[in-house]
Amino acid sequence: MPMNSAAMDVGSASGMVAAGSAVRVQQLRKVYGSEPQAVTALVGVNAVFQRGTFTAVMGPSGSGKSTLLQTAAGLDRPTSGMVWVGDTELSQLSETKLTKLRRSKVGFVFQAFNLIGALSVQENILLPLRLSGQRGDAAWIQQVVDRVGLTDRLTHRPAQLSGGQQQRVAIARALATRPEVIFCDEPTGALDTQTAGEVLALLRSVVDETGQTVIMVTHDPVAASYADRVMVLADGEVVHDMPQPGAERIAEHLASLGRRPRATQEG
Ligand code: ADP
Repeated sequence: MPMNSAAMDVGSASGMVAAGSAVRVQQLRKVYGSEPQAVTALVGVNAVFQRGTFTAVMGPSGSGKSTLLQTAAGLDRPTSGMVWVGDTELSQLSETKLTKLRRSKVGFVFQAFNLIGALSVQENILLPLRLSGQRGDAAWIQQVVDRVGLTDRLTHRPAQLSGGQQQRVAIARALATRPEVIFCDEPTGALDTQTAGEVLALLRSVVDETGQTVIMVTHDPVAASYADRVMVLADGEVVHDMPQPGAERIAEHLASLGRRPRATQEG
């Protein structure tokens, strides 16, 4: 079975039976603060992210993208609703168990790379394993290092690398524990167009060739066009959820949001 055939299921986001899901959120609601200043960032989002798929999460600033990423990754707790990473439902977990789950089942790639400057490339890649007390699978680590093209850079420090190379290190680090899912927050936001293309092609290949699951927040329709699926948020809800239709159509969908009557954020 081709790895990304699960992408065919992406339209069934509200179908809650998903044995092959890497991440699943149900009635996810997040309210920041309390009345009268409460802000509802997510109004009750349902979504399934199948294993071996690549989803772009888009939408205007303030639409809830980061909140969705953070609650789905167990970095922040929702006000109500449920999140599964693999088979584990997060609301039942203690802080210690949640931290453990984040270290082993979730990878992160940020716009600003967030590498540790004092560590070598190899040490940065192995850090999540060290933190979670695992030795790791040597064959897998070798495969990851080969895939991201870093074999001859392992003893370098991050400052000795270009932005694109640093982001490749961050992707290798995110893959090291062989997580259920890699969450990317604007991973190409700090890169030039060509380097961004290389990083996106790498993310695409880790989905296609190693069967990983990627959920990526981006503003860029071209970046989103590397995904299988585009989920668009507005005012804390999913307003489009579609197989990736190409950069031009994605841009049109985003533009159409400007013409949508805006719901109030309060309450
Ligand atoms: P996006 O990532 O799409 O820009 P966010 O998830 O960051 O959107 O924010 C969604 C809404 O929640 C916005 O109205 C934002 O101002 C609000 N928000 C986000 N984080 C906080 C916070 N820590 N405290 C209060 N409001 C917040």
